[in-house]
Amino acid sequence: MQASSVNLPDYEQFCASFSWAQAWRELAGMGDGRLNIAFEALDRHMGTEVAERTAIRFMPRDSQTPVDISYRALNERAARFANVLQDLGVRPGERVYGLSHRIPDLYAAVLGTLKHGCVFTPLFPAFGPEPIRQRVEIGEPAVLVTSERLYRKKVADWVADTPSIRHVLLIDQLDEAPPGTEDAASLMAAASDQYATRAMDPEDPALLHFTSGTTGKPKGALHVHEAVVNHHMTGRYVLDMHPGDIYWCTADPGWVTGTSYGIIAPLTNGVTMVVDEAEFDAERWYRIIQDQKVAVWYTAPTAIRMLIKLGPELPRAHDLSSLRFMASVGEPLNPEAVIWGRKVLGKPFHDNWWQTETGGIMISNYASMEVRPGSMGKPIPGVEAALARKTETGIELITEPDETGELVLKKGWPSMFRGYLHQKEKYRNSFVGDWYLTGDLARRDADGYYWFVGRDDDVIKSSGHLIGPFEVESVLLEHPAVAEAGVIGVPDEIAGETVKAFVALKPGYQADERLRKELMGLARKRLGPAVAPRQIDFREELPRTRSGKIMRRLLRARELGLPEGDTSTLESGGAQ
Ligand code: AMP
Repeated sequence: MQASSVNLPDYEQFCASFSWAQAWRELAGMGDGRLNIAFEALDRHMGTEVAERTAIRFMPRDSQTPVDISYRALNERAARFANVLQDLGVRPGERVYGLSHRIPDLYAAVLGTLKHGCVFTPLFPAFGPEPIRQRVEIGEPAVLVTSERLYRKKVADWVADTPSIRHVLLIDQLDEAPPGTEDAASLMAAASDQYATRAMDPEDPALLHFTSGTTGKPKGALHVHEAVVNHHMTGRYVLDMHPGDIYWCTADPGWVTGTSYGIIAPLTNGVTMVVDEAEFDAERWYRIIQDQKVAVWYTAPTAIRMLIKLGPELPRAHDLSSLRFMASVGEPLNPEAVIWGRKVLGKPFHDNWWQTETGGIMISNYASMEVRPGSMGKPIPGVEAALARKTETGIELITEPDETGELVLKKGWPSMFRGYLHQKEKYRNSFVGDWYLTGDLARRDADGYYWFVGRDDDVIKSSGHLIGPFEVESVLLEHPAVAEAGVIGVPDEIAGETVKAFVALKPGYQADERLRKELMGLARKRLGPAVAPRQIDFREELPRTRSGKIMRRLLRARELGLPEGDTSTLESGGAQ
């Protein structure tokens, strides 16, 4: 594409004149400073040519024939869902959780929930029952939208113990609705396809996304309707979406990327988004890009690494010339992946960085800018990033190039999270003065490009998913044989990291293969395959601090043969 037709032809110039007020003006708004994410995604397009355009090109799991859903049809389905909520007495502000595979009515449910002024929380369908139950207990949804299969497998056993849930709506009911559930399709069929989308205050909550921390339970990051300013702006100027583009974000809406860039940004920008129901399959993916003529592709390093491993023959057997802009997020993108993209697909991958708390892309490589392989790029217009070191009293910004520090962002971009649900202090502690502390370590080169160095905590990134070690340890500790458990991430060529657990047994238990299998089985059943450990090692005892905390850092250093660092707080009995 010619630089002139790129939405952001000159980064420096654009940054110099950019303001969030200007980005606001690119939205339709609902008068008096009010807005609604769903209005920007759908209603604003009605009465324009976009209404008849395909919003979702759905690729069913078992078929190669796509099903197209227009903006108008999606708007009507979302309106039906909003009316169902209203008819069930669900009030604006209440929470609706979604646990579903990628099927069109999941998207209608998200947008219908927002139309009605409720808060939507997506859950990853590969979670086991435990992470789902935990997130339900914290967020207390009034409604759970799910499928019959997922309901029977992951929810039915415990849902009676969660009084907040007044309605379980099955969006793909197969047989008779199990007791305690309702058939969403029938309710939607009976509801009106007209709904006056509620005009929300920009600060009204819209989305609650869970993210994993080092200790304790998952944290619920709250996002408000104003976040759409960011989504729209980054969709346009960072991912370079042009109206009518065929766009494919491979992330599941169970994660923040799959919502911000798998639902909101593409719809506000009037593109056609591919929604593939199936899981990763290299041949299928290349075929989708070829047959659907995908122009903008947003994917993740784990997937790219799998594609690379399978070799260049497969992509060369497909016509991928429709690809105009390719981006990647979620974990560090190896320089080789950028170079491979250029060589084999004809375009580089543009790495970008953000996290659940930031709600949208914060640092990125741009279509009009030279990609430095291995770098996350530069802050988006309107966002001030810096590197900081901690001091006795707070933080001090690093000004010299190439120094490593914690990545910090100046408060105030529209999609910034507005709180951790029920955890005011944790939220407060994420800021020092005007700066939000990301928990990631990075460095900046002399030209202003940011380079990811690592995380400043024990959280594990596996296949792009954050996993809190504590969640995994807690499940292992439920087994009667387990006295102590310590969980770390170990490097993996494809997934970035995989989960490894160290377990010390109670007296009288035998550390053998049978027990290892039993523990693996327990973890997979409770946590789901995305979160469960891939390896479990037995130890006599685990290294602990004098205050009793398991030193995951030390477990990791020993496992990987790294320097052990400061062990002054190590309890003496904890040596390996
Ligand atoms: P999540 O909140 O699940 O989206 O995870 C956010 C975390 O993923 C960040 O804090 C980083 O540790 C990591 N991450 C996201 N994007 C990148 C990237 N481009 N390069 C390196 N790490 C990344």
